Amino acid sequence: MRRKVSLLLTAALLCAAGVAAAPVPAGAQDPGSAGPTEWREVFSPDGTVTRVEIPEQAEDAPGPADLRAAAAAEVVPIQDTGPPGSRFDLVMVGDGYTTSEMGLLRQQAQAKWQEISATAPWDKHRQNTNVWLVNVVSAQSGVDNDPTRGIDRDTAMDMGFFCAGIERLLCLSESKAQAYAAEAPGADAIVALGNTAKYGGAGYPSLATVAGGNAQAGRIAIHELGHSVGGLADEYYTPGTTYPGGEPREPNVTASPSGSKWASYLGQSTPDGGVIGAYQGGSQYEYGIYRPSQDSLMRNINKPFNLVGLAVMDRAIGSEISGAAPGSG
Ligand SMILES: [Zn+2]
Repeated sequence: MRRKVSLLLTAALLCAAGVAAAPVPAGAQDPGSAGPTEWREVFSPDGTVTRVEIPEQAEDAPGPADLRAAAAAEVVPIQDTGPPGSRFDLVMVGDGYTTSEMGLLRQQAQAKWQEISATAPWDKHRQNTNVWLVNVVSAQSGVDNDPTRGIDRDTAMDMGFFCAGIERLLCLSESKAQAYAAEAPGADAIVALGNTAKYGGAGYPSLATVAGGNAQAGRIAIHELGHSVGGLADEYYTPGTTYPGGEPREPNVTASPSGSKWASYLGQSTPDGGVIGAYQGGSQYEYGIYRPSQDSLMRNINKPFNLVGLAVMDRAIGSEISGAAPGSG
Protein backbone atom coordinates (compact mmCIF):
# COMPACT_ATOMS: atom_id res chain seq x y z
CA MET A 1 0.00 0.00 0.00
CA ARG A 2 2.89 2.33 0.67
CA ARG A 3 4.09 1.62 -2.83
CA LYS A 4 0.74 2.64 -4.23
CA VAL A 5 0.78 5.89 -2.33
CA SER A 6 4.25 6.78 -3.55
CA LEU A 7 3.33 5.84 -7.11
CA LEU A 8 0.35 8.11 -6.82
CA LEU A 9 2.58 10.84 -5.51
CA THR A 10 4.99 10.44 -8.40
CA ALA A 11 2.22 10.37 -10.97
CA ALA A 12 0.62 13.43 -9.48
CA LEU A 13 3.92 15.29 -9.38
CA LEU A 14 4.47 14.48 -13.02
CA CYS A 15 1.08 15.76 -14.01
CA ALA A 16 1.55 18.84 -11.87
CA ALA A 17 -1.46 18.54 -9.62
CA GLY A 18 -1.84 21.11 -6.92
CA VAL A 19 1.72 22.28 -6.66
CA ALA A 20 5.27 22.83 -7.66
CA ALA A 21 6.03 20.99 -10.89
CA ALA A 22 3.89 23.29 -13.03
CA PRO A 23 5.64 25.86 -15.19
CA VAL A 24 5.50 29.35 -13.75
CA PRO A 25 3.44 31.74 -15.88
CA ALA A 26 5.57 34.65 -16.95
CA GLY A 27 5.19 37.67 -14.75
CA ALA A 28 3.30 35.76 -12.08
CA GLN A 29 6.20 35.54 -9.70
CA ASP A 30 6.12 37.96 -6.83
CA PRO A 31 9.21 40.08 -7.35
CA GLY A 32 9.62 40.37 -3.60
CA SER A 33 9.92 36.64 -2.98
CA ALA A 34 13.25 34.88 -2.68
CA GLY A 35 14.19 31.23 -2.44
CA PRO A 36 12.33 28.13 -3.50
CA THR A 37 8.60 28.36 -4.00
CA GLU A 38 5.76 25.98 -4.66
CA TRP A 39 2.17 26.23 -5.84
CA ARG A 40 -1.11 25.67 -4.11
CA GLU A 41 -4.55 25.86 -5.64
CA VAL A 42 -6.97 28.17 -3.90
CA PHE A 43 -10.73 27.70 -4.28
CA SER A 44 -13.69 30.00 -3.81
CA PRO A 45 -17.29 29.16 -2.92
CA ASP A 46 -18.34 30.63 -6.31
CA GLY A 47 -16.41 27.81 -7.97
CA THR A 48 -13.42 29.72 -9.28
CA VAL A 49 -9.90 28.44 -8.83
CA THR A 50 -6.58 30.26 -8.81
CA ARG A 51 -3.06 29.16 -8.24
CA VAL A 52 -0.73 30.95 -5.87
CA GLU A 53 2.98 30.75 -5.49
CA ILE A 54 4.05 30.40 -1.89
CA PRO A 55 7.41 29.99 -0.20
CA GLU A 56 8.36 26.33 0.06
CA GLN A 57 6.68 25.06 3.18
CA ALA A 58 9.02 23.76 5.80
CA GLU A 59 6.97 20.94 7.23
CA ASP A 60 7.79 18.72 10.16
CA ALA A 61 8.54 15.25 8.86
CA PRO A 62 6.77 12.56 10.86
CA GLY A 63 8.81 11.85 13.99
CA PRO A 64 8.90 8.52 15.88
CA ALA A 65 5.86 9.60 17.93
CA ASP A 66 3.89 10.42 14.76
CA LEU A 67 4.79 7.09 13.19
CA ARG A 68 3.76 5.25 16.36
CA ALA A 69 0.46 7.13 16.39
CA ALA A 70 -0.09 6.34 12.71
CA ALA A 71 0.65 2.64 13.26
CA ALA A 72 -1.84 2.59 16.13
CA ALA A 73 -4.59 4.43 14.25
CA GLU A 74 -7.78 2.48 13.71
CA VAL A 75 -8.95 2.08 10.11
CA VAL A 76 -12.67 1.63 9.52
CA PRO A 77 -14.51 1.12 6.25
CA ILE A 78 -17.00 3.76 5.13
CA GLN A 79 -17.73 1.16 2.50
CA ASP A 80 -15.94 -2.09 1.74
CA THR A 81 -16.86 -3.48 -1.67
CA GLY A 82 -14.12 -6.04 -2.20
CA PRO A 83 -10.39 -6.82 -2.10
CA PRO A 84 -8.21 -3.67 -2.43
CA GLY A 85 -6.30 -5.24 -5.31
CA SER A 86 -9.44 -5.23 -7.43
CA ARG A 87 -11.13 -2.02 -6.25
CA PHE A 88 -10.52 1.69 -6.33
CA ASP A 89 -9.42 2.59 -2.78
CA LEU A 90 -10.15 6.07 -1.50
CA VAL A 91 -8.68 6.93 1.90
CA MET A 92 -9.89 9.67 4.18
CA VAL A 93 -7.88 10.97 7.11
CA GLY A 94 -9.03 13.59 9.62
CA ASP A 95 -7.22 16.30 11.48
CA GLY A 96 -8.31 18.19 14.57
CA TYR A 97 -10.73 15.51 15.75
CA THR A 98 -10.29 14.36 19.36
CA THR A 99 -11.08 10.87 20.70
CA SER A 100 -14.64 11.94 21.50
CA GLU A 101 -15.09 13.33 17.96
CA MET A 102 -14.49 10.11 16.01
CA GLY A 103 -18.26 9.89 15.42
CA LEU A 104 -18.24 13.40 13.96
CA LEU A 105 -15.29 12.52 11.73
CA ARG A 106 -17.12 9.46 10.44
CA GLN A 107 -20.26 11.49 9.77
CA GLN A 108 -18.32 14.14 7.84
CA ALA A 109 -16.30 11.54 5.90
CA GLN A 110 -19.55 9.84 4.87
CA ALA A 111 -21.01 13.17 3.74
CA LYS A 112 -17.94 13.90 1.61
CA TRP A 113 -18.06 10.48 0.02
CA GLN A 114 -21.75 10.95 -0.71
CA GLU A 115 -20.93 14.16 -2.50
CA ILE A 116 -18.01 12.67 -4.46
CA SER A 117 -19.94 9.55 -5.39
CA ALA A 118 -22.91 11.57 -6.63
CA THR A 119 -20.62 13.20 -9.20
CA ALA A 120 -20.04 11.57 -12.58
CA PRO A 121 -18.14 9.39 -13.27
CA TRP A 122 -17.71 8.40 -9.59
CA ASP A 123 -21.43 7.57 -9.45
CA LYS A 124 -20.90 4.81 -11.97
CA HIS A 125 -18.11 3.23 -9.88
CA ARG A 126 -19.71 3.73 -6.46
CA GLN A 127 -20.39 0.00 -5.97
CA ASN A 128 -16.77 -0.86 -6.73
CA THR A 129 -14.96 1.74 -4.69
CA ASN A 130 -13.62 1.08 -1.22
CA VAL A 131 -13.65 4.04 1.12
CA TRP A 132 -11.42 3.77 4.17
CA LEU A 133 -11.44 6.14 7.10
CA VAL A 134 -8.35 6.39 9.26
CA ASN A 135 -9.44 7.48 12.73
CA VAL A 136 -6.62 9.93 13.33
CA VAL A 137 -6.85 11.22 16.91
CA SER A 138 -5.69 14.75 17.62
CA ALA A 139 -4.85 16.14 21.05
CA GLN A 140 -6.98 19.23 20.45
CA SER A 141 -10.18 19.92 18.55
CA GLY A 142 -10.16 22.14 15.45
CA VAL A 143 -7.43 23.47 13.18
CA ASP A 144 -4.99 26.38 13.35
CA ASN A 145 -6.08 29.95 12.56
CA ASP A 146 -9.79 29.13 12.79
CA PRO A 147 -11.77 31.34 12.79
CA THR A 148 -9.02 33.95 12.80
CA ARG A 149 -5.26 34.18 12.67
CA GLY A 150 -3.15 33.49 15.71
CA ILE A 151 -5.05 30.47 17.00
CA ASP A 152 -2.76 27.50 17.44
CA ARG A 153 -3.99 23.97 18.05
CA ASP A 154 -2.09 20.77 18.70
CA THR A 155 -3.30 18.37 15.99
CA ALA A 156 -1.94 15.21 14.35
CA MET A 157 -1.28 16.68 10.89
CA ASP A 158 -0.74 20.37 11.71
CA MET A 159 -3.67 21.55 9.60
CA GLY A 160 -4.41 25.26 9.44
CA PHE A 161 -6.01 28.14 7.52
CA PHE A 162 -4.18 31.29 6.39
CA CYS A 163 -1.52 29.11 4.78
CA ALA A 164 0.94 31.53 3.14
CA GLY A 165 -1.32 34.33 4.39
CA ILE A 166 -4.34 33.13 2.37
CA GLU A 167 -7.38 32.72 4.59
CA ARG A 168 -9.14 29.85 2.78
CA LEU A 169 -5.96 27.93 1.99
CA LEU A 170 -6.02 24.93 4.34
CA CYS A 171 -2.57 23.35 4.57
CA LEU A 172 -1.22 20.41 6.52
CA SER A 173 1.86 18.24 6.86
CA GLU A 174 1.63 16.19 3.68
CA SER A 175 4.06 13.55 4.94
CA LYS A 176 2.15 13.04 8.18
CA ALA A 177 -1.12 12.69 6.25
CA GLN A 178 0.56 10.11 4.00
CA ALA A 179 1.85 8.17 6.99
CA TYR A 180 -1.70 7.87 8.34
CA ALA A 181 -3.22 7.10 4.93
CA ALA A 182 -0.71 4.28 4.45
CA GLU A 183 -2.44 2.39 7.28
CA ALA A 184 -5.44 1.74 5.03
CA PRO A 185 -5.53 -1.58 3.12
CA GLY A 186 -5.23 0.33 -0.16
CA ALA A 187 -4.70 3.98 -1.14
CA ASP A 188 -5.38 5.06 -4.71
CA ALA A 189 -6.32 8.58 -3.58
CA ILE A 190 -6.29 10.51 -0.29
CA VAL A 191 -8.65 13.17 1.04
CA ALA A 192 -7.80 14.91 4.32
CA LEU A 193 -10.68 16.40 6.30
CA GLY A 194 -10.17 19.20 8.80
CA ASN A 195 -12.46 19.64 11.78
CA THR A 196 -13.89 22.99 10.77
CA ALA A 197 -17.01 24.44 9.18
CA LYS A 198 -15.06 27.34 7.66
CA TYR A 199 -14.78 27.17 3.85
CA GLY A 200 -11.40 26.04 2.63
CA GLY A 201 -9.13 23.41 1.21
CA ALA A 202 -5.98 22.92 -0.85
CA GLY A 203 -4.58 20.83 -3.66
CA TYR A 204 -1.35 18.91 -3.06
CA PRO A 205 0.43 16.50 -5.38
CA SER A 206 -0.71 13.49 -3.38
CA LEU A 207 -3.92 14.60 -1.72
CA ALA A 208 -6.63 17.19 -1.22
CA THR A 209 -7.56 18.94 2.00
CA VAL A 210 -11.14 20.01 2.65
CA ALA A 211 -13.07 21.57 5.50
CA GLY A 212 -14.88 18.55 6.95
CA GLY A 213 -17.87 20.50 8.21
CA ASN A 214 -18.40 22.74 5.18
CA ALA A 215 -20.96 21.55 2.64
CA GLN A 216 -19.33 23.36 -0.30
CA ALA A 217 -15.80 22.19 0.36
CA GLY A 218 -16.34 18.69 -1.03
CA ARG A 219 -16.14 20.08 -4.57
CA ILE A 220 -12.48 20.88 -3.86
CA ALA A 221 -11.76 17.18 -3.39
CA ILE A 222 -13.59 16.30 -6.62
CA HIS A 223 -11.42 18.76 -8.59
CA GLU A 224 -8.21 17.51 -7.00
CA LEU A 225 -9.13 13.91 -7.75
CA GLY A 226 -9.31 15.03 -11.38
CA HIS A 227 -5.58 15.74 -11.13
CA SER A 228 -4.42 12.88 -8.94
CA VAL A 229 -6.63 10.13 -10.40
CA GLY A 230 -7.17 11.27 -13.98
CA GLY A 231 -3.96 13.21 -14.60
CA LEU A 232 -6.13 16.08 -15.88
CA ALA A 233 -4.74 19.58 -16.35
CA ASP A 234 -6.43 22.65 -15.01
CA GLU A 235 -8.65 24.44 -17.50
CA TYR A 236 -8.37 27.89 -15.93
CA TYR A 237 -5.62 30.39 -16.65
CA THR A 238 -3.82 33.50 -15.54
CA PRO A 239 -4.82 36.39 -17.86
CA GLY A 240 -2.08 37.70 -20.11
CA THR A 241 0.09 34.57 -20.04
CA THR A 242 1.25 32.57 -23.07
CA TYR A 243 1.98 28.86 -23.04
CA PRO A 244 5.66 28.34 -23.82
CA GLY A 245 5.93 24.60 -24.43
CA GLY A 246 5.12 21.88 -26.96
CA GLU A 247 2.16 19.54 -26.91
CA PRO A 248 1.25 18.99 -23.24
CA ARG A 249 0.95 15.43 -21.94
CA GLU A 250 -2.35 15.96 -20.14
CA PRO A 251 -5.33 14.59 -22.08
CA ASN A 252 -7.55 17.68 -21.69
CA VAL A 253 -5.29 20.44 -23.01
CA THR A 254 -3.62 20.84 -26.38
CA ALA A 255 -1.38 23.27 -28.21
CA SER A 256 -3.36 22.64 -31.40
CA PRO A 257 -6.27 25.03 -32.08
CA SER A 258 -7.98 22.24 -34.04
CA GLY A 259 -8.72 20.23 -30.90
CA SER A 260 -7.75 17.08 -32.82
CA LYS A 261 -6.48 15.57 -29.54
CA TRP A 262 -10.12 14.89 -28.64
CA ALA A 263 -11.36 14.60 -32.22
CA SER A 264 -14.01 11.99 -31.47
CA TYR A 265 -15.80 14.43 -29.11
CA LEU A 266 -15.71 17.58 -31.22
CA GLY A 267 -19.14 19.13 -31.69
CA GLN A 268 -20.83 16.92 -29.07
CA SER A 269 -22.80 18.61 -26.33
CA THR A 270 -21.07 18.40 -22.95
CA PRO A 271 -22.53 18.21 -19.41
CA ASP A 272 -20.91 21.51 -18.38
CA GLY A 273 -22.77 23.32 -21.17
CA GLY A 274 -22.16 24.05 -24.84
CA VAL A 275 -20.27 21.74 -27.16
CA ILE A 276 -16.79 20.24 -27.19
CA GLY A 277 -14.36 22.30 -29.23
CA ALA A 278 -11.01 24.00 -28.70
CA TYR A 279 -11.36 26.94 -26.31
CA GLN A 280 -8.34 29.11 -25.77
CA GLY A 281 -6.84 29.08 -22.27
CA GLY A 282 -5.91 26.26 -19.92
CA SER A 283 -3.20 24.78 -17.75
CA GLN A 284 -2.64 28.26 -16.23
CA TYR A 285 -2.03 30.00 -19.58
CA GLU A 286 -4.39 32.23 -21.50
CA TYR A 287 -2.85 31.99 -24.98
CA GLY A 288 -1.33 29.21 -27.09
CA ILE A 289 -3.16 26.39 -25.35
CA TYR A 290 -6.71 25.04 -25.69
CA ARG A 291 -9.24 23.19 -23.52
CA PRO A 292 -12.21 21.06 -24.61
CA SER A 293 -15.08 23.13 -23.19
CA GLN A 294 -15.91 26.55 -21.83
CA ASP A 295 -16.40 25.81 -18.17
CA SER A 296 -15.73 22.30 -16.85
CA LEU A 297 -15.01 21.15 -13.30
CA MET A 298 -11.29 21.63 -13.98
CA ARG A 299 -12.06 25.33 -14.34
CA ASN A 300 -15.08 25.86 -12.10
CA ILE A 301 -15.57 23.39 -9.28
CA ASN A 302 -19.32 23.92 -9.21
CA LYS A 303 -19.61 22.50 -12.75
CA PRO A 304 -19.46 18.85 -13.94
CA PHE A 305 -16.54 17.36 -15.87
CA ASN A 306 -16.70 17.89 -19.62
CA LEU A 307 -16.94 14.86 -21.94
CA VAL A 308 -13.17 14.58 -22.30
CA GLY A 309 -12.56 14.72 -18.53
CA LEU A 310 -15.38 12.26 -17.91
CA ALA A 311 -13.91 9.69 -20.26
CA VAL A 312 -10.44 10.04 -18.76
CA MET A 313 -11.74 9.75 -15.19
CA ASP A 314 -13.93 6.81 -16.08
CA ARG A 315 -10.98 4.90 -17.54
CA ALA A 316 -8.66 5.81 -14.64
CA ILE A 317 -11.10 4.72 -11.92
CA GLY A 318 -12.13 1.67 -13.89
CA SER A 319 -8.53 0.57 -14.39
CA GLU A 320 -8.27 -0.11 -10.63
CA ILE A 321 -11.40 -2.23 -10.66
CA SER A 322 -11.68 -5.84 -11.72
CA GLY A 323 -14.37 -8.45 -11.09
CA ALA A 324 -16.90 -5.66 -10.72
CA ALA A 325 -19.92 -6.17 -8.51
CA PRO A 326 -23.18 -6.74 -10.36
CA GLY A 327 -25.36 -3.77 -11.18
CA SER A 328 -22.54 -1.34 -11.77
CA GLY A 329 -20.99 0.07 -14.86
ZN1 LIG B 1 -6.50 22.16 -10.27
